[in-house]
Amino acid sequence: MKSRREFLGGCLAAGGSLTLGFACAGGGGCRGTSEPAVRAREAEPLGAAPREAAFEAGYLRLEREGELKRREETLWKIFERCRCCPRGCGVNRLDGEKGICSSSAVLKVASAGPHFGEEPPLVGRRGSGTIFFSNCSLLCIFCQNWTINHHGEGDAVSHEDLAEMMLSLQRRGCHNINLVTPSHVVPHIVRALRIAIRGGLTAPLVYNTGGYDSLEVLQLLDGVVDIYLPDFKYQDNEIATRLSTGAEDYPEVAAAAIKEMHRQVGDIDQIDGIARRGLMMRHLVLPNRQAGTDRFVEFVARELSVDTYVNIMGQYRPLHRANEFEEVSRRVTRAEMAEALAWAREAGLTRIQGG
Ligand code: SF4
Repeated sequence: MKSRREFLGGCLAAGGSLTLGFACAGGGGCRGTSEPAVRAREAEPLGAAPREAAFEAGYLRLEREGELKRREETLWKIFERCRCCPRGCGVNRLDGEKGICSSSAVLKVASAGPHFGEEPPLVGRRGSGTIFFSNCSLLCIFCQNWTINHHGEGDAVSHEDLAEMMLSLQRRGCHNINLVTPSHVVPHIVRALRIAIRGGLTAPLVYNTGGYDSLEVLQLLDGVVDIYLPDFKYQDNEIATRLSTGAEDYPEVAAAAIKEMHRQVGDIDQIDGIARRGLMMRHLVLPNRQAGTDRFVEFVARELSVDTYVNIMGQYRPLHRANEFEEVSRRVTRAEMAEALAWAREAGLTRIQGG
């Protein structure tokens, strides 16, 4: 076990980040390292600097108005009978109890650093400033970051430490602060965010989630989060139960959560090709049509917008316990990916990243 000083030194060292063997960022799914094939829908106007200057992260206004403090207080109350995520365990996290996510009130972080494997509008030239939280409430059996999400690899940090990670990533030029697997630690995030604001944080906040999010918590994040980056993993209750540790209601919960995210921030808005605000979606294609990709793209077109940014990901690998589940015990074939992308085009989606 590293000392806290050693851990933070690793996370915050200039020119590098602490890494623990994961390949890309994500809340329980395999995340965006594919070649970009985004259809450029609209060119940013020449001389976009005035728009960039006009951008202000939403949390700054809420803090000025005293609203962020009120939201934080409400969020801590949720920890007392935890319903921070849709599992609704009801445990008192503040008393040290743990629910399905195995997290008490102790905040743990696995790593922090610039990441260049995310979607191009997040990465830009200087990277997306990722902070990986330990543990997870969704617990997918094919999780590529299973040592972090299932086994809780990482180190305890204070709110001041987390705030300094955010500020350090901003100082290093990252285009955003990308909170990976945040759903079970939201009160901590808002507390640290308020400290970081006092230290000069202005970068857009990215909420990078597996899509299994509580509406109550999301409503408390309205105006706090600038960019939502959810997965939508499955469309079938039995598949969700089997592959995500009994999360039977995942399809309905994720659909409602993503609609709320879209209501808050709308389609993605970019300045000079860099995302500033909006919803970006991820969908990991699984073997044997386990992800329900045809129904997923129909949902996006029907319930959100055909202009939603959608990353159709083909990098699935049967990691962690996936080999125990025959239907997902192999990689996705080229034909399966072609089928998935064809469904997305047929649904009329205009901002598809895929491959
Ligand atoms: S965040 Fe953890 S303890 Fe709270 S409801 Fe979800 S799984 Fe249970």
